[in-house]
Amino acid sequence: MTKNILVVPGDGIGQEVTAVGKKVLDKIAAKFGHTFTYDEALIGHVAIEATGNPLPDETLAKMKKSDAILFGAVGHPKYDNDPTAKVRPEQGLLKMRKELGLYANLRPIKLFDELLSASSIKPEVLKGADILFFRELTGDIYFGEKGRKNNGDTAFDIAEYSRYEVERIARKAFEAARTRRKKLCSVDKANVLETSRLWREVVQKIAPEYPNVQVEHQFVDAAAMILIKDPRRFDVVVTANLFGDILTDEASQIAGSMGMLASASVGDGTGVYEPIHGSAHDITGKGIANPLASILSAALLLDISFGMKAESEAVISAVDQVLKAGFRTGDIADAQTPKDKILGTDAMGEEVLKRI
Ligand code: NAD
Repeated sequence: MTKNILVVPGDGIGQEVTAVGKKVLDKIAAKFGHTFTYDEALIGHVAIEATGNPLPDETLAKMKKSDAILFGAVGHPKYDNDPTAKVRPEQGLLKMRKELGLYANLRPIKLFDELLSASSIKPEVLKGADILFFRELTGDIYFGEKGRKNNGDTAFDIAEYSRYEVERIARKAFEAARTRRKKLCSVDKANVLETSRLWREVVQKIAPEYPNVQVEHQFVDAAAMILIKDPRRFDVVVTANLFGDILTDEASQIAGSMGMLASASVGDGTGVYEPIHGSAHDITGKGIANPLASILSAALLLDISFGMKAESEAVISAVDQVLKAGFRTGDIADAQTPKDKILGTDAMGEEVLKRI
């Protein structure tokens, strides 16, 4: 198969880990007889520095033309500490999601057995946890009207959802649940929020179309608690943009580290595959970032955008073997990890490549 992949590393460790993710795609192409061609584009702080725009038109045009996008991260400390900055790296990310119609963010939370001890949650609570989150990505409080009033002393952000927006993400989640353990948990705050009451109404209305899927509804506060107390209770979870943002970071602790988790953003056009972590200024340039989330993002890309199941499995299995062989990056190492098994970004990538 011939495919055109756009690599968008972005900022900070995005540059470091995406380079490794790309090498993995290259190795898969060679091994399975595919032809992958690559182009690269700017987003975030690096794009602002080069063009003044966090999502330059040229980047957007390349994104729309490509078959899939391997993405890094955006963010720079300059903006984190300056809430008044008018142009910000994250604007690039939000605009990309809107422009590409990426309304569903999929985050598989699966713990590799070898990392049971890397999580702060007890192994007996965690073992076997396997959750697929569907976070709605283009609505909610992030995209509603926002502003200041009363001379700037009062601020507001409006949360909005349409029936159509809830229905399309709910259907994706129901469909995924059908292929898994057939359980769907819809998370909202319907006791307080009107957007959540619409959310619940829509999920309840379409549920009878999926009779094999057992549906439950949880309030977000309860869901946050259950996630730590009994994560195995969840199979597929579907939720709104803000709740999903927070719950999936909480769930990252089930997998031991943000450095292990991949995500896919899909919708109407080209899919975007990226680690859930950010640009991690604290470790940028040190060569110690965990590249496994980017590598697992490449695996999701192969599976979801290209339908290459065997190729995707080959990547996941190589990651599993590397962990079984005892190799760790600093973020997933523990006191028992021998020093010579703690690897930097590139060396970890090499171990995965060797096993594909
Ligand atoms: P972060 O995810 O960048 O880092 C959180 C912590 O996890 C840090 O201590 C970091 O060192 C560690 N970490 C993250 N990824 C790692 C990896 N691959 N290997 C080892 N350790 C890793 O979140 P943050 O510190 O809150 O934000 C830093 C910047 O990233 C901010 O500018 C923020 O706006 C941006 N951000 C971007 C995205 C995105 O592009 N999707 C997501 C979250 C945050």
